[in-house]
Amino acid sequence: MYSEELFNESKNYFPGGVNSPVRAFKPYPFFVERAGGCKIVDVDKNSYIDYCLAYGPLILGHADPKVVREVSAQLAVGSAYGAPTENEIKLAKEVVDRIPSAEMVRFANSGTEATMSAIRVARGFTGRDKIIKFEGAYHGAHDYVLVKGGSGAACLPDSAGIPVDTTKNTLSVPFNDEEALTELIEKEGENIACLIMEVVMGNVGCIEPKPGFLEFVRKITEENGIVLIFDEVITGFRASRGGAQEYYGVTPDLTTLGKIVGGGLPMGAFCGKREIMELIAPSGPVYQAGTFSGNPISVQAGISTLTQLDDAFYKNLKNKGDFLRSNIASIIDEEQYNIQPVGIASMFQIYFNPAEVYNYTDAKASDSDRFLRYFRALLKEGVFIPPSQFECNFISKAHTMEDIQNTVEAIEIALEVAFKKNK
Ligand SMILES: *Cc1c(COP(=O)(O)O)cnc(C)c1O
Repeated sequence: MYSEELFNESKNYFPGGVNSPVRAFKPYPFFVERAGGCKIVDVDKNSYIDYCLAYGPLILGHADPKVVREVSAQLAVGSAYGAPTENEIKLAKEVVDRIPSAEMVRFANSGTEATMSAIRVARGFTGRDKIIKFEGAYHGAHDYVLVKGGSGAACLPDSAGIPVDTTKNTLSVPFNDEEALTELIEKEGENIACLIMEVVMGNVGCIEPKPGFLEFVRKITEENGIVLIFDEVITGFRASRGGAQEYYGVTPDLTTLGKIVGGGLPMGAFCGKREIMELIAPSGPVYQAGTFSGNPISVQAGISTLTQLDDAFYKNLKNKGDFLRSNIASIIDEEQYNIQPVGIASMFQIYFNPAEVYNYTDAKASDSDRFLRYFRALLKEGVFIPPSQFECNFISKAHTMEDIQNTVEAIEIALEVAFKKNK
């Protein structure tokens, strides 16, 4: 069956025809037949160079041979034990060795679980209820954080079905705004358990912290006894070997991980200072649990992935990112498109916005219709990026310089199409 027929059938079984909202786009999403390396192939036999990469996890590309081999071997000796394994320690050592703020780790099953649990332990540690997040930041799909959320939630008003009593404890301020944060903390500081933030906002496009902003956030949270949580579900093992905290040189109290840590299988983790982490059950009073937490399949995929990510790997990936970003910038410059290419390391995006983007309000002012024309034109040229201005695009090990050169050409054409009308 073709994608269009499958989508029509799918709508009978799944709300909106999909199992996660960002996957639905008009007129219908392509249905995947298979993927390998940087290529994803749909049931209509189109092949795309993939920069969505499952929204971030696949830093080695699809079906990396070492991951496939080692995960298959693990699968043959059991997929869940309900008892600990040595491999969990091995993966924890990889995490602690890389992430500067990590002393102890708890594995969970998704980024959502990781942020939910990290916030709970921060509340347990401080005895306070309120939390701060930045507008447009996405920290998963649980009740605490679905206030002015990014990613798929950026397209909706705040989610229905969440008690006001829950979200009254979630305060939000604009990203990169020292004044707003100072004001909030002056008013509410002693009630605030934690500030959770994406170091680079990766769910409203890609927004870097202004120089000095992270240092400011670190200082003001420390002075007010507020636990600082870096949500590195995207940037962990992506911005650099030690994530965005290593990239910018600012260390939080807790870090949440997901996406890459599971090597392409479902997984999340949170880690941080021993003093806080030891409050988690069974060593402490903060409950956190999961049937599949630390399951041997995801753990093996995590080990098989992280052990391939050394300094040379990141240098190579950054070179590809720099090449792609500088070529995009040249096209935009030459054609005088007046839009904003952004990104760091192996992350990139274009804001269809004449002004630079520093926060959620700026990002929302971008021309989403024009972005969608660009997205569709790229698909036609054989390049798949997430179908939203409010996501980030990713590069993997599997993208060759030739793939990237072809992508530059596709982007040049897609921008021309996007700007054809009313240029
Ligand atoms: C994807 C993401 C999450 C949620 O992770 P899931 O595995 O989808 O639950 C949380 N925080 C950030 C920054 C993310 O990008």
